[in-house]
Amino acid sequence: MKVDNYDVVIVGSGIAGAVIAKTLTQAGKTVLMLEAGLQAGIALDAEGSYKTYQKYIETFYNAPAKVPNSPYPDLKDAPSIDVLDIEKLQNGIPSTDGYLVQKGPLPFASDCMRGPGGTTMHWLGTTLRMLPNDFKMKTVYNQNVDWPLTYDDLKPFYEMAELEIGVAGNVSEQKYPDIPADFFGKDYVFPMEKIPQSYLDKEIGKKTEKLKVSLNRREYELTCISTPQGRNSVPNEAYKYGSIVWNASKKKLQLETQDQTYNPDGSLWDPYTGQRCEGNASCVPICPVQAKYNALKTLRRAKQENLDIITQAVAYKINTDDHTNEVTGIEYKLYKTDRSSEYTTGIAKGKIYVLAASAIENAKILLASNVANRSDQVGRNLMDHLVMLTWGLTKDKIYPYRGPGSTTNIPTFRDGEFRKEHAAWISPLDNWGWSWPVFSPGSDVGKAVSSGLFGKKLREKMNEDVTRQFLLHFEVEQSPDPGNRVTIDPQYLDAIGNYRPVITYNVGDYMLKAFEASKIVSDQIFAANGIKDFTYYNPKTDPDYVVYKEQGYTFRGAGHIVGTHRMGFTEDDSVVDKNQRSWNHQNLYLVGCGNMPTLGTSNPTLTMTALTFQAAENILKQLQK
Ligand SMILES: Cc1cc2nc3c(=O)[nH]c(=O)nc-3n(C[C@H](O)[C@H](O)[C@H](O)COP(=O)(O)OP(=O)(O)OC[C@H]3O[C@@H](n4cnc5c(N)ncnc54)[C@H](O)[C@@H]3O)c2cc1C
Ligand code: SF4
Repeated sequence: MKVDNYDVVIVGSGIAGAVIAKTLTQAGKTVLMLEAGLQAGIALDAEGSYKTYQKYIETFYNAPAKVPNSPYPDLKDAPSIDVLDIEKLQNGIPSTDGYLVQKGPLPFASDCMRGPGGTTMHWLGTTLRMLPNDFKMKTVYNQNVDWPLTYDDLKPFYEMAELEIGVAGNVSEQKYPDIPADFFGKDYVFPMEKIPQSYLDKEIGKKTEKLKVSLNRREYELTCISTPQGRNSVPNEAYKYGSIVWNASKKKLQLETQDQTYNPDGSLWDPYTGQRCEGNASCVPICPVQAKYNALKTLRRAKQENLDIITQAVAYKINTDDHTNEVTGIEYKLYKTDRSSEYTTGIAKGKIYVLAASAIENAKILLASNVANRSDQVGRNLMDHLVMLTWGLTKDKIYPYRGPGSTTNIPTFRDGEFRKEHAAWISPLDNWGWSWPVFSPGSDVGKAVSSGLFGKKLREKMNEDVTRQFLLHFEVEQSPDPGNRVTIDPQYLDAIGNYRPVITYNVGDYMLKAFEASKIVSDQIFAANGIKDFTYYNPKTDPDYVVYKEQGYTFRGAGHIVGTHRMGFTEDDSVVDKNQRSWNHQNLYLVGCGNMPTLGTSNPTLTMTALTFQAAENILKQLQK
């Protein structure tokens, strides 16, 4: 296409950037996308994308450490945050070996992926909505902050996000604490039937469903429910929508009912590209049959003739007009290979600019440009779900290591009066044994072999132990804290001279109390199920080991990077308004989890995608003016 002045320039091809690109190009707007990853990763035709994907799978099979970024190119000129770089911090000395500069006192323990499709290439795909009270924590519980919009404001956009991702789930089973009867709307169903719950879920559910647990002199009755997720199952015949369209006369995005929908090239649109989930259990980092949603599926549905993508283009500076404050261009470095450190530069120009480079990168680019930061909130309030794990052996075999990471969760502590005292959490039942805390089953095999077991005896030992491994998560909501932040420092630059993110990070008492409370609940679940507890938090080696009331706990990052350019009520307390637009620059929108003022207990991407559809609607309104 190549035009001098595009309607919109977008930075990043993750789900946030892809949703904006798809919605705007389908509405007839011209879009230029800058993407830091390699050209090969963005092949959008069927053959090219299949070949690239197969290469990722091969790389994953050959990788010694099967971590989230292992299938994808490790770009020296556009590095990704990687979990392999997380280390315990010593005596206030920053950790500088990875892309992040970690100043502590605790290391920030989540990663993301720079490359076409972004972090959805290796996400798990859990797609829960937030609860109404999550949007008004200050009003209801006198904690954290309120959002400038409510659950009801976001509800139509949640439905768009669920279509876009192709959510599989059962609405009638979504019974969360204290939600209103019309939480989903009358007769609403998800686009696909639920993913079958695992055998493990059913066995643990027998003694956990309706189990009464005591906590702080109160009794709670636990429930176990199926988890909605972005992976293909059987399309739900009762689902009526087929596309999301811009209605120019009503100035609204809306879901449309269609029996058959078509791609811009006229071919029949298969909204759920890829096979059905067949339980391979490697969703993080890669699904071999593309059953799991990734953002390239959305990007493929953009109207290609209205979209130009420049790959290997790392955005690093936003230019503004001194008088109008409008953004006039985004400067980028076009690197030659992924590790030559050689580059040329360019400036992308459009009427409206959208940063969709993920929470940490967005904040970094804004700070490097001294843009959108009159409130001094850019980079602050960095949050994640703090994942405390407990693990044990059941008496009978429950056969983990089958199916997606989790198919059932305990929602009981997602909301309630206790939030005045400590943070809320959700407890997914994990289908992948002890792989996360102790690298099972590889570590079990290693241990058995070193104790002299081989052949039949080794197989029998594995069959006896690994089949009984049970793992429970407590994913604790982190509160916004202005001191937890991304900054920049000229002494820390990457290979092509761009700033590396410098992170300051800690965890307060509100969350530590939730670790204490969740271990009390875990003990009662383990006791009811006859599970022998093997949980061990290592003060010497666990990077995020914390002590509360003389008891040690370890938490891990969830990959839910949130809060660095938050939305708010006024230009003094926030970076964007409720339309996702910068308070300070009227043609700059920020999208992604960085906009979320609080985190709630749902994995953030569905909510962020709903917000992104709302941003797309606002951009279209602004262009129409
Ligand atoms: C292991 C793991 C599991 C997860 N599981 C879940 C889950 O089950 N449910 C859930 O809701 N969330 C999950 N998440 C979080 C989820 O993946 C992210 O919230 C989501 O992918 C963020 O999307 P995004 O488009 O905002 O950013 P990203 O996906 O990170 O995309 C950013 C894009 O911008 C590009 N980019 C970055 N910097 C530049 C630059 N300077 N110039 C040009 N381009 C740039 C990148 O290459 C990339 O394409 C998980 C995360 C991890 C790490
Ligand atoms: S369980 Fe397997 S098939 Fe299903 S989404 Fe995960 S990796 Fe893909």
